[in-house]
Amino acid sequence: MTYSINYTHDASVSSWVESANSHLDFPIQNLPLGVCRYAGRKIIVTAVGDLVLNLQGVAARGLLSSSEVTATLSSESLNGLMSLETSHWSTLRRDLHNLLKVGADANLLDGLLYKRSEVDMCLPATIGDYTDFYASIYHATNVGSMFRPENPLLPNYKYVPIGYHGRSSSIVVSGTAIRRPCGQTREGGEVPSFGPSRKLDYELEVAFYVGCGNEQGKPIPIEYAEDHIFGLCILNDWSARDIQAWEYQPLGPFLAKSFATTVSPWVVTLEALEPFRKRAYVRPEGDPEPLPYLSCWSDIERGAIDITLEVYIQTEKMVAQGLEPFKLSTAGFGDMYWTIAQMLAHHTCNGCNLRPGDLIASGTVSGAERGSWGSLLELAWRGSRPIELPSGERRSFLEDGDEIIMRGYCVREGFRRIGFGDCRGRILPALK
Ligand code: MN
Repeated sequence: MTYSINYTHDASVSSWVESANSHLDFPIQNLPLGVCRYAGRKIIVTAVGDLVLNLQGVAARGLLSSSEVTATLSSESLNGLMSLETSHWSTLRRDLHNLLKVGADANLLDGLLYKRSEVDMCLPATIGDYTDFYASIYHATNVGSMFRPENPLLPNYKYVPIGYHGRSSSIVVSGTAIRRPCGQTREGGEVPSFGPSRKLDYELEVAFYVGCGNEQGKPIPIEYAEDHIFGLCILNDWSARDIQAWEYQPLGPFLAKSFATTVSPWVVTLEALEPFRKRAYVRPEGDPEPLPYLSCWSDIERGAIDITLEVYIQTEKMVAQGLEPFKLSTAGFGDMYWTIAQMLAHHTCNGCNLRPGDLIASGTVSGAERGSWGSLLELAWRGSRPIELPSGERRSFLEDGDEIIMRGYCVREGFRRIGFGDCRGRILPALK
């Protein structure tokens, strides 16, 4: 099923929750889903303006039209809802829209709306498996040219959506402090040493949660791939470049990545993103066509999603000087070489089974221009061009106390802007 634009996207509809009507991220047209801790309990919520709506409470009052959806909302995670079908997710969106729009009876939700500042956001799902792709050709070319200037892009790149299996146990929600990892590095000398990483970096990424999964041995054809995608978030794939450089051959990333990954707490549904779909990346003359299992008409026509992504840094000195976070880059998720449907179809083409709540990340989102590069490795070009900050400081890699803030939003004329909320994390010193 492909979503279509419907009354839940209508820009002229306002909410009786006043703050929603001027909110940049969470107007009534978004209605992202998440899990928060409120009064000692974990509950499923949606965001509307500065408030969150307790969906367990909404379900318990019999205000939803689907009994299957109602049954999943008393849980402490979104996995149950994710395991249902797209039509159920649509039904929930329509019900919430109807309850929150101007003209609805606000008394029905009495006591179920809390200030966002009064709740602590949690991971939205129990993430069984986490996979990270490498879907930006600009990022792949940048990183490749640092190590192989004459031959930056490996011959498989335009055929295979490259990815690796990450670690789900260390995924944390936005706001969680990140401890600088220790590990083996070899800088200069013959013999490696063990100690705190000195080349700690971030990677700006978009990720999606798998909805209903597939049976082992049964691939998901690309035509149906989006039926298995519940929604998207912003992801920071923290990376220790010095550990990575020493360990990654021959099996790829390991401890340089597995110490922490940060996600934004809100899951923006694919249906909310419908107005911002666009044509998939148009391959230049001379590039091979994707193999048939990675191509279908609808994915070519509307496989990309136009999300503007921003990365900011705020150092301890900037906080002390009262300086606002400094923008490091702006990139467009619409320019990725591979679409989310291609990633999911490729992931399952060997029969690998995906499960509800699995998290699949895009890889670093970088564009063609320097100002759109999604990691410090690229922005400071391996340390050769340090970034100048308004505090007078310079950065090639992250220092203790630095906070990285990632944001994403969608804009299109005729529609309300929607956003993802922050994905942030501050670096703590390594353990002694
Ligand atoms: Mn990554």
